[in-house]
Amino acid sequence: MKILFAASAVLALTPMAQAQSFAVGTARAERGHAATGYIEVPAGADPATSIPVVVVHGARTGPVLAIVSGAHGTEYASIIAVERLIGALDPTQISGTVILVPLVNRASFDQKVVHVNPVDGKSMNRFYPGRSDGSQTERASYLITKEVVERCDHLIDLHGGDLDESLRPYSYWTKTGHDEQDRISKEMVLAFGLDHIIVSTDRPKDPAASRYLENTATTRGKPSITAEAGHAGTVEPEDVDALVRGCLGVMRHLKMLPGAAEPVASPIWIDSVLTVASDEPGIFYPLVKRGSYVAAGTPIGYVTDFFGKKVFEAKAPAAGVVLYICSVPSMAKGGTVANVGVVRTGS
Ligand SMILES: [Zn+2]
Repeated sequence: MKILFAASAVLALTPMAQAQSFAVGTARAERGHAATGYIEVPAGADPATSIPVVVVHGARTGPVLAIVSGAHGTEYASIIAVERLIGALDPTQISGTVILVPLVNRASFDQKVVHVNPVDGKSMNRFYPGRSDGSQTERASYLITKEVVERCDHLIDLHGGDLDESLRPYSYWTKTGHDEQDRISKEMVLAFGLDHIIVSTDRPKDPAASRYLENTATTRGKPSITAEAGHAGTVEPEDVDALVRGCLGVMRHLKMLPGAAEPVASPIWIDSVLTVASDEPGIFYPLVKRGSYVAAGTPIGYVTDFFGKKVFEAKAPAAGVVLYICSVPSMAKGGTVANVGVVRTGS
């Protein structure tokens, strides 16, 4: 295939999105087309895995946007949102290239295991930039860093409430201190359209110890965001719609799609997130719903022993919004009861 050889020669000389073809893993798309394939993670001390990937190589040149979900394989609404984007994006209408990775954590999805990759017990959003000689999560993170993060100009990482988390939608804007990068990522998070935005200022600065996927892109100078919607194993249309709309809004903002983005007009900025943990194991009973605004000291739930005796009362540590609250009765000692976001007042 001489044409492909010529295209890869062009790849080396020009920005990636200008190339005639664009490949991630086994998915190679010609300009104006989409292609599906896998990022093949080879076996190491534990088994191999295949991460599905779609490349939508737009008819016109433009930025490369990566959209990733399913690091936590039971955060279903975010996975279904990327599945919907796979069906909806028309390469003939796109300027630039979209890399879609709908399901990073195959084993979590297949086995319905929350929070971690059951193959090695690791969260698939804590071990970036990964390592080629590590366990499956680390090897997958290493290849996603090489194949997706290093190839894109912008990245959107989608999450949501896991099976045990009743979550109201929100996004994260990471403030790096690099003014131009922060300006662009702020515009992206506003174009995404979720009205509650957590400002992250404490993410690692070292690209070699970036931990999170979005932070792996951010520490490599690529304006990127994270967004969450969905709760407790459900695939509610409003959650999926919010994530799909958000990605399309960012694409319009980046001029990858025609039309204007509709940035959120009155964002609610959240400057800190306080985690309420249970001092005792037992049975959890929530007293507030996701998205509730609570005063400091408001009881938000309690834990009983297995004889019905109350052993722990959870109170809001500060006034704020309940970003998520435990959605199931199972409660471990030290388990998360809720995350409360402290809302910025004034400008
Ligand atoms: Zn997640």
